[in-house]
Amino acid sequence: MRTPDYYYVIVGGGLAGLQLAARINEDIFFKGKKIAIIDPSEKTGNDKTWCFWEKSGGKWDSIIYNSWKKAAFISSNIYHEIDLGEYSYKMLRSRDFYQHIKEKLEKTPEITFINDKIDRIDQVTRSAIGEKSKYTATHFFDSRLPKNFQTDTKSTLIWQHFKGLLIETEEKIFNPKVFTMMDYRLPYENSTSFTYVLPVSETKALIEYTFFTPFLTEEKVYDEMLNKYIKEVLKISKWTVVESEIGMIPMTDYSFSEGSSPHVTKIGTGGGWVKASSGYSFKNTEKKVDRIIENIKSGYPPNHNLFNNKFRKYDAIFLDVLARRNDLGEKLFTKLYTRNDIDAIFRFLDEETTFSEDLKVMLSIYHPEFLKSFFRKI
Ligand SMILES: Cc1cc2nc3c(=O)[nH]c(=O)nc-3n(C[C@H](O)[C@H](O)[C@H](O)COP(=O)(O)OP(=O)(O)OC[C@H]3O[C@@H](n4cnc5c(N)ncnc54)[C@H](O)[C@@H]3O)c2cc1C
Repeated sequence: MRTPDYYYVIVGGGLAGLQLAARINEDIFFKGKKIAIIDPSEKTGNDKTWCFWEKSGGKWDSIIYNSWKKAAFISSNIYHEIDLGEYSYKMLRSRDFYQHIKEKLEKTPEITFINDKIDRIDQVTRSAIGEKSKYTATHFFDSRLPKNFQTDTKSTLIWQHFKGLLIETEEKIFNPKVFTMMDYRLPYENSTSFTYVLPVSETKALIEYTFFTPFLTEEKVYDEMLNKYIKEVLKISKWTVVESEIGMIPMTDYSFSEGSSPHVTKIGTGGGWVKASSGYSFKNTEKKVDRIIENIKSGYPPNHNLFNNKFRKYDAIFLDVLARRNDLGEKLFTKLYTRNDIDAIFRFLDEETTFSEDLKVMLSIYHPEFLKSFFRKI
């Protein structure tokens, strides 16, 4: 076999691909290894706004767009304000993230950005077959979504789908110190649907209408709900839309990691790095990338011990409840946010809690449907 073109080929230069490339680039262990990042998109626009929580100083602080120390959870009949304590909730615009990482990587001669769309990875010839060319490597990190995850009958799939508008108002309306994690005052039929508000100043906020549902919807539904929320709930009569974003994130217990093999490691959403019960993956990506680097340096396969089975089971049960009884979302999240302190919630969602701490959180949101789902998913 001739020498491969690259040591690593990273398919997809999005969140996971770029975080992985940046970590490889920082580590002397990988010095001299040629790496290609292949993506059909130039990744120059602001296609996503990422939010995540973390304790005090973090890796991305130099490019954080805004952060909050207080959150509000609003149901149809309660307003619950939460002091985040040691945590901050941080907002990062994808354009800043892409630019920040690319500036660093473009200075490294071993790293090449390639504009191409990969059709498949041939395990025998160890090559990624693109529309423009073929790229050989010793190992591939692949962030493409598998084709069959939506039709798999063994797993549960619901979608976190949303449209967000960054709006500007003439009057000072928003409190930039408090963001709204979930506001259930404007539900869409009997579904788990809420509004998420990220105020960046007294006159500017990103407002997202979000569903956690087995079904998807047309764009006009988000528009109707957003208009209604801005007019009737926030009582704003005049606003301008500065930017908009639309997205859908799979929340599923599908076993994405099965797509990995000795020469291919699935990464990002396609690797199952989105937390199935919350749809968050920014911070998870940082942790998984660190683990991959440790694994490689210790001689393990890159995806060794990347997942915690206990939390995967919890997520599967929660998803099953939401998929069968989508009307329960408001009730379950109200219990979660009002019966636990935020430290316990964030640590549980970050998969850092002990079994007795897990039990406390799970009992706080208990509903008989969990028992049915437990037996369906065991
Ligand atoms: C609008 C939006 C907002 C989100 N907000 C949050 C948030 O606030 N917090 C959070 O934690 N998570 C959030 N998520 C979830 C998650 O963090 C993101 O989806 C994240 O981008 C996933 O990382 P990824 O690398 O798997 O995918 P991406 O960042 O989408 O990267 C995948 C890359 O692969 C490329 N690609 C696709 N097909 C091919 C191919 N055939 N060949 C080569 N390249 C290919 C794409 O062009 C893309 O650049 C959000 C998701 C969306 C869609």
